[in-house]
Amino acid sequence: MTTPWGLPDFDAHEELRFVHDRASGLKAIIAVHSTHLGPAAGGSRFWHYARDDDGLTDALRLSRAMSYKNAMASLPFGGGKAVILADKARSKSTELLHALGNAIEAMGGRYITAEDVGMSVPDMMKIRDMTGYVAGLPVKGAAAGGDPGPHTAAGVFAGIKAAVKRQLGKFRLKGLHIAVQGAGSVAAGVAVLAAGEGANLSIADIDPVKAANLAALTGGTVVDPRDILLLEADVISPCALGSILNEESIPALRAAVVAGGANNQLATPHDGPRLHARGILYAPDYVINAGGIISVCTEYMAGSAELVRRRVDAISNRLEDVWSESAATGVDPATVADQIANRLIGRA
Ligand code: NAD
Repeated sequence: MTTPWGLPDFDAHEELRFVHDRASGLKAIIAVHSTHLGPAAGGSRFWHYARDDDGLTDALRLSRAMSYKNAMASLPFGGGKAVILADKARSKSTELLHALGNAIEAMGGRYITAEDVGMSVPDMMKIRDMTGYVAGLPVKGAAAGGDPGPHTAAGVFAGIKAAVKRQLGKFRLKGLHIAVQGAGSVAAGVAVLAAGEGANLSIADIDPVKAANLAALTGGTVVDPRDILLLEADVISPCALGSILNEESIPALRAAVVAGGANNQLATPHDGPRLHARGILYAPDYVINAGGIISVCTEYMAGSAELVRRRVDAISNRLEDVWSESAATGVDPATVADQIANRLIGRA
């Protein structure tokens, strides 16, 4: 079957911009998937790809996930994403960030950016020099703002608790075994909150120092990254990479729940049904990890930190909606979430 523009991941994206700024060396792709609910919001990713096409695939997939994520979080925003094709050394200059800011400004507010992998609050401030269509800036007083990571972690933690209640009938994490993949920003936030409630943690990161530090902070045990998904655990919490739930890994899982912050956890659309067939409760990634974009969008609309907290708390209700519809229809939660999200963005 031929795919539009020869791009298998093209999904009626409204706009696709290829940005090249010779002076700064910026090469970026800005994808706007949908503006049905409002301007397209989603972070800028700074990453070195082996092939430019891989960056394009990421931009297409991640921008669609942002449409779904924002819709499921009841935010008045559509979905978009910027992918910066970093060089091998990942050199990131002020000029390069200014050039990205100019490109976003030229879109006139159809796309609003914030932090994603490889980008920081200081980077957002440099983009802010050139455009107002940016959030994830330093917090001022009781207003929303700042690093989205802790809000993502808070939402994932709430989602894990909701999943554990539903699947295991437990109201607290005390004594439960949670295997956390990753020891970065989101993983650390989740691990600290879970340890605070008495969970036993296994932690894996390809960076052994990060894994060791997080284990020391939370009383957890460091595990080889190759083994983390294979542990017998109550919850597997993928908080590092995408595509880790696939044809090979799913049959080997020994956990009751998969609930974590990583984007694009399912390698293919077949993997949600695969998890379901094994009786594992899955928290669809873009529903459970919406805390960061909730913070970013609330900041953009000049809302308060309190409003962010309330919206993040509502993530578990949305997960409950998905799981209830799944239980009623027999359709797996990942597919149910896609169906609800498509209805919300007018693409049912
Ligand atoms: P981060 O860069 O702080 O942490 C990621 C960690 O994963 C790093 O420590 C890295 O060494 C580790 N890692 C990479 N490959 C690994 C492997 N094979 N096994 C174990 N660990 C591995 O990033 P983050 O902000 O914590 O984001 C983590 C995930 O959550 C990403 O998928 C990101 O897209 C997603 N996410 C983040 C946010 C946010 O607000 N930061 C929001 C939504 C989704």
